[in-house]
Amino acid sequence: MTRSHDELREALGAHALGQLDDPALQREVEDHLLTCAECRAELDEIAPLAAALRQVDADQVRPVGIAPPAELDDRIRRALPRRVSTVRRLAPAAGGVLAGAAAAAFVTVLVVQDDRPVGPTVIAVPEVESVRGVTATAGLVDHTWGLEVKLEATGLPAGETFEMWVVGNDGTAYDAGEFIGVKDKKIVCDMSSSVLFKDAERFKVVDAQGTEVIAADLPS
Ligand SMILES: [Zn+2]
Repeated sequence: MTRSHDELREALGAHALGQLDDPALQREVEDHLLTCAECRAELDEIAPLAAALRQVDADQVRPVGIAPPAELDDRIRRALPRRVSTVRRLAPAAGGVLAGAAAAAFVTVLVVQDDRPVGPTVIAVPEVESVRGVTATAGLVDHTWGLEVKLEATGLPAGETFEMWVVGNDGTAYDAGEFIGVKDKKIVCDMSSSVLFKDAERFKVVDAQGTEVIAADLPS
């Protein structure tokens, strides 16, 4: 019965999930909660999250060998209510399996976010020309920051680098990024350029030698 506030606080995550296997520790946590307002506040904060984690189907939880990239974590944290900051403290305290469960909970929440009907309108490019052996289709998204070209292509030589340019009404070519050809597989690339849809006239994809392999006039 000599565990410190810090040690008992560490156990709050597992306690909230009903996963404290040690009855003595469980009792100590409960006793400590009666006298420690800080731990009670912490428990209140993590309780809703623990409830969400309990809904994660354990059979669906796969071991995750790597942590999610920091960038993804950032995006999730921006997209979600404040509570997510608590996940990061809860997961390590609750152990390895729950780190996996926490990752699954992240994904679940993300899917819910994606279900919102906020998808961009994709404008089809009616006619995409390509060199022999290459087939391609494209869609456009008119962003406030520029034009996005969603390109799907098959037949581009594997390992070669291709560059997309969007050509404006005034003849200026705007870099829309690079990608690499993949053998026998359809590639799907979202390319972005800093020219607005209303100012864009055509796009082209060139190989390392500068030869056009895919090109299309853009609908206006
Ligand atoms: Zn405490």
